[in-house]
Amino acid sequence: MVTDTGTTPGSQSALRQANERRVVDVLRRDGTQTQAELARATGLSAASVSNIVRGLRAAGTVSVRNTSSNGRRARAVTLLRPPGTVVAVDFAVDQIRVAIGDSEGNMLAREAIAYEVAADAPRAVRRAAWLTETALLGARIDLGTVASVVASVPGPIAPDTGAVGPISCLPRWAGFRPAPALQERLALPVLAENDANLAVVAERRLGAAQGADHVIQLVLGEGVGAGIVMSGRLFQGAGGTAGEIGHIGLDPRGQVCRCGNRGCLETFVGTGYLLNMLPRNYDLAQGTDRVRLNDVVSSALRGDPGARRIIAEAGTALGQGVAIMANLFNPDRVVVGGDLAEAGSLLLDPMRRSMELGTLGSALAQLELVASALGEDAPLRGALLTATHSLR
Ligand SMILES: [Zn+2]
Repeated sequence: MVTDTGTTPGSQSALRQANERRVVDVLRRDGTQTQAELARATGLSAASVSNIVRGLRAAGTVSVRNTSSNGRRARAVTLLRPPGTVVAVDFAVDQIRVAIGDSEGNMLAREAIAYEVAADAPRAVRRAAWLTETALLGARIDLGTVASVVASVPGPIAPDTGAVGPISCLPRWAGFRPAPALQERLALPVLAENDANLAVVAERRLGAAQGADHVIQLVLGEGVGAGIVMSGRLFQGAGGTAGEIGHIGLDPRGQVCRCGNRGCLETFVGTGYLLNMLPRNYDLAQGTDRVRLNDVVSSALRGDPGARRIIAEAGTALGQGVAIMANLFNPDRVVVGGDLAEAGSLLLDPMRRSMELGTLGSALAQLELVASALGEDAPLRGALLTATHSLR
């Protein structure tokens, strides 16, 4: 986890954004001001202030009316939007999503694009910055009123350096620091955090983990992430890799995992592994070339025996992995989120059975296993909520 607020890139647009922010800060602090007063308070020239106010007015951030000051005609500028807009950016493996939130973390607007995020980290960041600007423009909110940005990444992030860990769904992002890269593009303070850690924040506040203080939140996708809350606090570990449950070893003779070990939990529940279990001639997607995990899930929900088998076995393996965590952490709630969670009881019932076999009776007594309430929005919602913390 990292926050960088010190650097300001030297580009023209970054300079303009910094000047906009100075004008907005004065309006926020002192209320309605004439343009001449704004120029005095910010140290900017009258022409610059006039230019910036025109932009803020076009974006719906301020209103302008004619007035008089000391007997001379003047233009009074008033901030329209409450301060403290926040932005969430979600880097999923195959798409980028952006949400705009208010100072309470409520979602005001959102945008998403399909994108091969894994292929190239700096390009994905440029695309995310563009999508953020597009979403703000669509919501008529000026970039200058945004207080903070939180980015969700499907991999561990080192708390000291902000670098993405070497083993994640985004191998080409290893060592990359998404927060400073996005910050340089947007000229806003950016924090990057693991997707499962953000998901557990959201589920505790708004979703399936409300009222629970010891939570394990699973995010199932290409990998298996877990966000851990113990005694009401997010547990990240020394290097930010706590909750990398996907690499719990289940079968020493199993498939080789991308981490180099064999038979990790991920090789039983990761999307790529599940799709590989389908026979070549198994027509799940009904004619389309590429079968996706949601084809498997919807076929299973319709009763397809092969798809049901794949999901049930994934549930059993997941239950074995979670049992180990439950014995270690004694959670009161386990929340299952991510693509595979859409299978509902087809996944959760076998998962519950194998959890019961592997978990100490005393750890089971208060343990509730539930599906995510926020679905794929959980990391995005958690990012908005986390971004509002910087306002307080
Ligand atoms: Zn592994």
